[in-house]
Amino acid sequence: MALIEFEHVFKRYPGSSNAAVDDLNLHIEAGEFLTLLGPSGSGKTTTLMLLAGFEAPSAGSIRLDGQSIESLPPHQRNMGVVFQSYSLFPHMTVAENVAFPLSVRKVDKSVIADKVTAALTKVHLENFTHRKPNQLSGGQQQRVALARALVFEPRLVLMDEPLSALDKKLREEMQLEIRRLHRELGVTMVFVTHDQSEAMTLSDRVAVFNQGRIEQLASPQALYDAPANPFVANFLGDNNMLNCTLASGGVKTASGQVLQARICATTAFENEAAVKLCVRPEFLQVGADCAALATPNCLNGTLVDLIHQGDHWRVVARLTALEGGPHSAALQWFAKVSPGALPPGLVVGQNVSLGFRPEDAWVF
Ligand code: ADP
Ligand code: MG
Repeated sequence: MALIEFEHVFKRYPGSSNAAVDDLNLHIEAGEFLTLLGPSGSGKTTTLMLLAGFEAPSAGSIRLDGQSIESLPPHQRNMGVVFQSYSLFPHMTVAENVAFPLSVRKVDKSVIADKVTAALTKVHLENFTHRKPNQLSGGQQQRVALARALVFEPRLVLMDEPLSALDKKLREEMQLEIRRLHRELGVTMVFVTHDQSEAMTLSDRVAVFNQGRIEQLASPQALYDAPANPFVANFLGDNNMLNCTLASGGVKTASGQVLQARICATTAFENEAAVKLCVRPEFLQVGADCAALATPNCLNGTLVDLIHQGDHWRVVARLTALEGGPHSAALQWFAKVSPGALPPGLVVGQNVSLGFRPEDAWVF
């Protein structure tokens, strides 16, 4: 039995025509780090609020250890919550903030002091007990919020975009801290983010949300290597896409060129069905022409831009062979090329070719 089970859960806010959470089925295993990843408005926060008990489902059931918890108030669910804004009490010290969940649970004063010290030690803030929140950096405030969520030893810790207000360096430091805490405490963590790299850094499994539904639930690596559909391919990692039709021996572009690719077997395609061809930019090779590339697939284009990004070059090309076709929005592709693999003397405006192996191209 999973620790948490969402079964056919719907959430419709009053006055709203669309469901914020739309027939959600999700099992959360004890001890795992699960991330809800998706664009703004896709239902991540609502899902977390349903789990925490701050919102009630319109239909469906949510179970903890097999027991329905819909009628259980938040403070009886034994879940620690960290919100996006630090939501610390500004007039209380660090220690008082962390003690708060224990005070409301009427825990004995002497026990509180020990538990607060222990929780602050876990987040490396044991020397900051007497500070007020406005005397702390953003990262420190978020660690206080984390200590407050951990102090009553909850079974689950729920975090809603807790690092989004921090700058990149601090955010990455905090990600490692959260990873460490998860490892050390063995507590189940459910984390919300719209940042794919954050999701990949932290998670055992990631649920990719779109319009109140889960598009795919898998390990970060499985999502990256085998996305279930174009939405997941576009949301996790970069992706180039081309509208094609299914043809014998591969897929046909608008200009009639036949390319070979991996047909993702989830759908039974009819011949000449409209499909999307997807290739990640790191799988594209760039050459002066197709003859220079030893790949079965090759698309000709014009070099539009060449951008140095430190560890790689971003090569942007317009696919000339497809110009004038019905799918002009998909005509610009980009490749990520390591400095050593860039053909010498490339000039914007010249012809370039993009090559890729059939096994690196997916068709949905
Ligand atoms: P996310 O956290 O993924 O950005 P939310 O769960 O906050 O998404 O929102 C999902 C949908 O529900 C959105 O369309 C949002 O506008 C709507 N929504 C969220 N909270 C409320 C609310 N309190 N009242 C009405 N609609 C809401
Ligand atoms: Mg949200």
